Order: sequence, then C-alpha cells, then structure tokens
Amino acid sequence: MSANAAGVKRRSTVAVRVGGVTIGGGAPIAVQSMTNTDTADVAGTVEQVAALARAGSELVRVTVNTVEAAAAVPRIRDELDARGISVPLIGDFHFNGHKLLAGDPGCAEALAKYRINPGNVGRGSKRDAQFAQMIELACRYGRPVRIGVNWGSLDPALAARMMDENARRAEPLEAVEVLREAMVVSALENAARARELGLGADRIVLSCKMSGVQDLIAVYRALAARCDYPLHLGLTEAGMGSKGIVASTAALAVLLQEGIGDTIRISLTPEPGGDRTREVVVAQEILQTMGLRAFAPMVVACPGCGRTTSTYFQELAQKIQHYLREQMPEWRSRYAGVESMSVAVMGCVVNGPGESKHANIGISLPGTGENPVAPVYIDGEKDVTLKGERIAEEFQQIVERYVREHYGAGA
Ligand code: SF4
Repeated sequence: MSANAAGVKRRSTVAVRVGGVTIGGGAPIAVQSMTNTDTADVAGTVEQVAALARAGSELVRVTVNTVEAAAAVPRIRDELDARGISVPLIGDFHFNGHKLLAGDPGCAEALAKYRINPGNVGRGSKRDAQFAQMIELACRYGRPVRIGVNWGSLDPALAARMMDENARRAEPLEAVEVLREAMVVSALENAARARELGLGADRIVLSCKMSGVQDLIAVYRALAARCDYPLHLGLTEAGMGSKGIVASTAALAVLLQEGIGDTIRISLTPEPGGDRTREVVVAQEILQTMGLRAFAPMVVACPGCGRTTSTYFQELAQKIQHYLREQMPEWRSRYAGVESMSVAVMGCVVNGPGESKHANIGISLPGTGENPVAPVYIDGEKDVTLKGERIAEEFQQIVERYVREHYGAGA
C-alpha cells in the first residue's frame, strides 16, 4: 500500500491499465465521466467527449447499445485522435454487449475498457454463456473490464437465492442487509468467473453502485475488505443540483478517506440545458478539497457578511475561479505544479490579510466604511495595494505574472 498526498493509505495494490491511464496500484485516483449523447451521433458525441476531456476527465464512458452505436465508436475514436485527444473510451454494455462486441471488431478495438453489468448480461440459461462471451472478447482484445453491479439492476436470480437462504436462517437478517451482501457477492462471484475464463486480475475493476449514501458506504467497505481489485466509486442516481453533489460528496468522502476507491465518477443529473462537464468539476473538487489530488488552482473566498454591501468581491472571486479553470488546459502543459496554487479573495480586512498570507496570492477588497483600497499579498508578504476601477484586471495580471514566474520553464 502507498500513501497519497493527504497521507491516506490506498487499498488496491493491483494496477489496471486503461489506455494510457492506470487505475489502482497506487496511481492517482482517476476521474471519469459519461456522455449523455446518442453514441450513434458521432459529431455530437465527439464534441461532448472533447468537452469532458478538456474539463479534465481522464476516462470517458459511452453507451454502446445498438449496432449503430457500436459502428460509431471507431469513428469517434478516430476523430478524437485526429484532434489530439487521447482520452480512453469505455463502452457501457447491457443485454446485447456480447453480440455488439463480437459483431464489430472495430468497436472492440477502439474501446479501452468494457463495462459489464452482471445483472444485465442476460437472463436464465443464456446469462452464463453471454457473460463468458464478453470476457472471452476482453481476453482476445487485451482489454480490461469493469464488473459494474448496480442496485437498480441487481441480478434477480442471485437476489432471490440469497433471500431464500436468509429465510432459512435461525435468525434472518434484515432484507436490506441481504441485498447489500448480494451486491458484494455479485461483484466477487463474477470477478471469480472472469478469472476462471482467463481474464487476469490486472484486467478487472469492480463497482457496486447504489443510490443511498449509507448503503454505498456499507457495501464498499465490505467489498474493499474482501478483495484487492481496484474499485470504481460512485453514488448512482445521485440526482440534480446541490442534492446530487452533497449526496455524492457525503458518500465518497467517507470511503476515500478510508483509502477505498481508485477511480470515481459523480453521476449528476444535468439541469435542462446544463453543462455535462459539471460532473468532472465536482469529482475534481472532491479530490482536491480532500487533499488527494490537485487539478486547478483553488480560490479561497470568504462568504461575505454585513461588512460587504456590494457584490463586487463575489464577482471577483467567481471571475478569478473561472479564469483559472479556463487557463488550465494550456497551463497544465506549460506550468508544472500550477494546479497546487491557491488564491484568496476576501471581502474586507477582518480576515482578509490573514487568509491572504496563507495563499500564494491574496487580495482583500475594501469592506463597508474602509478605505477604497485592496492590499495584495504574494507568498505571505504585502506586495502592492490596488485602487480605482481596474482592481479586477490588475489582480488578474498579477496572477498571470506569478504563474509565469513561479511555474514557467526555468522557474
Ligand atoms: S472577511 Fe470580512 S467580509 Fe468576508 S466574511 Fe469575514 S468579516 Fe465578512
């Protein structure tokens, strides 16, 4: 086991390569996302994958549900490659995955990983054969799989079997406990079956997604205690807006702090017309605020109070945060380490100078009744005092200069 930046022990020692990304084995916790376009719509899917990758998604999953969608996958891959976007694509299969992968070698080659839901592989006598076919295809193409159990599609035969066994116990467990255990058993039994079929341990990632925070924590703790496969972590059907973000954060923070989880996805329902990249930003912010990874400079901003009568400092904080995130695709390659920079934007001098001194760069805007000046601190030392109408622009220039001087080549 290795420790990450926050000193949290990482559980999985097995490294799974997905395209150019490593999951587990002490690698940084990978951020992934999923498109919501019709995969058969090549242009629309390419645009969304590109946007997700630009936002920082390190893996992107696409639905592969029809012959047309499967045929589109290699074209999507080619177009992304032509644009210089190397983000690995993961195929999400349900029910007909064995047919689609077998029938379209181009699709099988273009995908870096296959996601199999053991509850949706097939029913009855067909299930085992179809699962085996998916695993054999993964072996043939040298691709890893995620065995992704989902609360909403838990294998009904397994659930029924375990409920029957429970009913025969002298002291039966609560139904919810049996179903939680069934999630874990489904993941482990299918992983064992995949191993028997020849898939290496370094080609298997597991997940047991649930929609309840306590359910998710209980199931992943049990899963982590009973295997060493890398785990894909996420609260499924987290919901919209703040509810989805809060629920995901509540569940994932507990598990991540215990060293559980090697890759994460935040399953937010976008607002109508909303931006799909939001789920990437939230995943990054969870990891960064926990000190597990750094993705983009963080802005520390005070909440504001009666001492600030204008929204000026809120706007400045938002503007700076937006600016920093917008620069990251370019800065990431030019300014190594810039993602760890911190910027403080404070509303008055009560806490402003103190907080500013803890940041790389900080500014305290004038509060009500204070002199209309804004002291700027750089690395704990007062650097300059801004005043007038162009405080925002001048502060942005100071940030740009700091980045060049501290993170540029030869800095
Ligand atoms: S720093 Fe000033 S404006 Fe911001 S919350 Fe504290 S007292 Fe209020």
